[in-house]
Amino acid sequence: MIVIALTGGIGSGKSEAARQFANIGVPVVDLDVIAHELTAIGEPILLDIARIFGNDFLNKDGSLNRTKFREHVFNNPAERLKLEALIHPAIHARALKQLADNNHNSRAPYQILVIPLLFENNRYEDIAQKVLVIDCDESHQITRAMARNQLTESEVKAIMNAQVTRATRLSLADEVITNNGSLTELRENITLIHKKFIKTCIVSK
Ligand code: ATP
Repeated sequence: MIVIALTGGIGSGKSEAARQFANIGVPVVDLDVIAHELTAIGEPILLDIARIFGNDFLNKDGSLNRTKFREHVFNNPAERLKLEALIHPAIHARALKQLADNNHNSRAPYQILVIPLLFENNRYEDIAQKVLVIDCDESHQITRAMARNQLTESEVKAIMNAQVTRATRLSLADEVITNNGSLTELRENITLIHKKFIKTCIVSK
């Protein structure tokens, strides 16, 4: 089964695009979803986070205070490296397992692997055969990410500056979906590219 990487900058519409692929029956593996699962209450990695970074990053109920922890690692490169060393191998292993399960259980000709930081992290380069970028104007990225994550404009811009530039991302894409319109348009464009992917997957079998 062909693996198509789906990526894009913060607030570009990756999750909405992934949801539409899933709605039309395409198996989806999402690294952000896996990262959330691995840091849920009761997971060994959450205990490691509390041990290494301190209990201050836990809420009263024992769950991870994601906003506080995200800010901490974003502003401290050494701490970010520590977190990456802890969590990336576990995310990678679970993603490979889910991709293999889909390969085994689904008759779909391709599956989607959502990788928010594909070009910042070369761990997944050999896994995906094609790259689909969800792209939108930076003004849309900013307003959508601000509304979704309760971030200020400067916080969103700081995150955008830590990601590869839009031009770099576009230059590395095999396919691009522009998400400057409505959610309905985005969903229609996903359905159209799905038809194209089905055709190319069948031809390349
Ligand atoms: P992140 O990198 O922050 O996880 P993302 O790329 O996964 O973001 P989404 O979560 O899909 O982006 O979209 C960000 C927000 O913008 C969401 O609230 C989503 O519903 C909204 N959104 C996405 N596309 C559109 C659109 N075309 N019209 C209106 N709202 C949109």
